[in-house]
Amino acid sequence: MIELISNSRCIKCNICVSVCPTNVFDKVPGAPPAIARQNDCQTCFMCELYCPADALYVAPQVEPLESVDEKSLIEAGLLGSYRHNIGWSGGQINQAQQDATYQLLKKIE
Ligand code: SF4
Ligand code: SF4
Repeated sequence: MIELISNSRCIKCNICVSVCPTNVFDKVPGAPPAIARQNDCQTCFMCELYCPADALYVAPQVEPLESVDEKSLIEAGLLGSYRHNIGWSGGQINQAQQDATYQLLKKIE
């Protein structure tokens, strides 16, 4: 479930507002979006995936956490970790290049 928008990281692009399929966020003029309808979150991770600033944290739990501490999340490397693990972060190696079939086909091209 969506748990946090980092005020210090958010660049107010509102991409998360646009990609959320269940309209969890509200735009706030001149400020990061508000988590307005947390209980509507489907834990789909789309907002975390698309956030260009690694400013969101979606917990894998489908119930709200009792407490969320931004500093601890940053220290644990959890902000944006889904985006990174799925391979959408910049500067990552194309995983297809490590696939044996891909390497074989490249040799016979
Ligand atoms: S995890 Fe999915 S449903 Fe939940 S706030 Fe993000 S985009 Fe919306
Ligand atoms: S996508 Fe990320 S940076 Fe953009 S408004 Fe949402 S939380 Fe902020």
